[in-house]
Amino acid sequence: MRLSEQDHYYSAGVQRITLLRALLILTMVFAAGFGVLNLYRGLLILGAVELGVAFLSGILMLILQGSRYPQYWGLFYLILFFAMLITALVTAGNSRTVFVWILIIPIIAHFLHGRQLGLLLSLAFLASAWAVYYLNFLDLTLLGFTDMANVVASSVVLTGLIHVYEYSREKAEDRLGKLAATDSLTGLPNRKRLREVLDRTLSEAERTGAGFCLLGMDLDHFKNVNDQYGHDAGDQALRQVSDLLRTRLRRTDTAARWGGEEFFVLLPGTSSKGALQIAEAVRADLAETPIRVGGERLKVTVSIGISEYPADGREVRELLVCADRRLYEAKSRGRDLVVNEGGPGIGKGVTGPA
Ligand code: GH3
Ligand code: MG
Ligand code: MG
Repeated sequence: MRLSEQDHYYSAGVQRITLLRALLILTMVFAAGFGVLNLYRGLLILGAVELGVAFLSGILMLILQGSRYPQYWGLFYLILFFAMLITALVTAGNSRTVFVWILIIPIIAHFLHGRQLGLLLSLAFLASAWAVYYLNFLDLTLLGFTDMANVVASSVVLTGLIHVYEYSREKAEDRLGKLAATDSLTGLPNRKRLREVLDRTLSEAERTGAGFCLLGMDLDHFKNVNDQYGHDAGDQALRQVSDLLRTRLRRTDTAARWGGEEFFVLLPGTSSKGALQIAEAVRADLAETPIRVGGERLKVTVSIGISEYPADGREVRELLVCADRRLYEAKSRGRDLVVNEGGPGIGKGVTGPA
């Protein structure tokens, strides 16, 4: 599972909104300060632009509260900030040290928009700023060329560094995200991840009308495996059961460890009939394949309950509870069984060893 740019935006979303708020406050204070100063100096256009940006930053602060699209407001802010700096840079009579402010652009662009868009924005903004600097300030002396070289080199170095930093930060975020979503013993998705996938599958199903099924599984008499062969053997058995699930299922299915020796499997786009076949294949496979632990070969069996969207519920909780209830029905009927639809005692859809 690799996070997309969009996922990165939302996972880093809280920090990015906090950063944007801080930037807006600083912009309000400094743009207003420089605005007044420049009006006083007689630089009317620049002063007016700066006061305008200070005002718009205040408005943005209000809009940002509860906005569903903070990334677009971040982009809007960046363009506003850049436009103000370019105005300052082209304003005759203003200092060339304004370029120092331009150096903030790559930092803000990367922090607000991540590695890819951040780099693109930085380069576009910097290239325009270099052009403006070149046209406005370049004198044909050696000192003039040195100034230009300083301006270009410092912004390239800063952009490179911040880009490498953001790249390693996103990598670390990917790794942490993966760790937080994976069960460490079996390498399967954990309960938290399954819930996320279930929520996503449910919203998709509501939109498209596609059904899906859920298998609840619990290994039979697993306590005996631990008691007889030790906890390490039990762990190894859990890993082998997980490998079996991984090889048996399609790439689009999700087998997750719910906890202990309980698993749930999500089968998107699968009818109750299809799910019954898959569950039965997993049950039979496990019952027929002895698990090798050390020199021993143990027989491990599983009980499975199936629930189907939307027949058994339209909410994740209902579907989990339904699969769990049928799983315990399979237990009470003697284990090593799959229970599909039908209440206790009906026996419809119950399969097991012949
Ligand atoms: P049944 O489900 O068929 O009713 O019997 P059971 O013996 O499997 O019942 P129960 O759910 O009460 O016990 C589950 C056992 O699974 C308890 C514990 O010894 C074992 N178990 C749970 N998690 C782990 C684990 O991570 N590693 C190992 N080795 N054993 C575990
Ligand atoms: Mg259990
Ligand atoms: Mg059990």
